[in-house]
Amino acid sequence: MTNPSDGATDGAKPEYPAKADYEQYLRRLPKVELHCHVEGTLRPATVVELAAKHKIALPTTEVDEIYRYSTIYEFLEIYAAVNSTVIDREDFARIAYETLQDGVELGNLKYREMFFNPTLHTARGIPMATVIDGLIDGAKAAETDFGVSCAFIADVYRRTRRRWRGRWSRRYSRTAGRS
Ligand SMILES: [Zn+2]
Repeated sequence: MTNPSDGATDGAKPEYPAKADYEQYLRRLPKVELHCHVEGTLRPATVVELAAKHKIALPTTEVDEIYRYSTIYEFLEIYAAVNSTVIDREDFARIAYETLQDGVELGNLKYREMFFNPTLHTARGIPMATVIDGLIDGAKAAETDFGVSCAFIADVYRRTRRRWRGRWSRRYSRTAGRS
């Protein structure tokens, strides 16, 4: 890394921080995130471990290959496969905890409003309470360990039947918003 002031002999040139220092500065700035979907943040290594735990076949078990895609259609297939590995309350706690940990360690995250998609999970047979209780477990543990706060927002696809949308939003939006 070359310092812009290197070679200056008259001392008049301003000193700029090295680029690496500036990146560190940005990373260390305290952050608030207002739009993050937990289902899109799973660590590849966790996906592989959860798939093994539940004996779920993935297109690949190579950690570096899990998120490799070239079209939106491939991405959506990966997204579904990745989320099919999250099944019990401990799994949901783990993904909430880890994504908050990653936010803290990579970018000094202090507060996040995090979307979760109830229908993505209930449609594959996961009880709603498992999803919400697990996510809240993970967020509370992350708050204890890293001092990061998280509020949840239930996010329901437009294509989900209206009857379910209304019921879920009434029953869970208040509960899930507090962690
Ligand atoms: Zn979004």
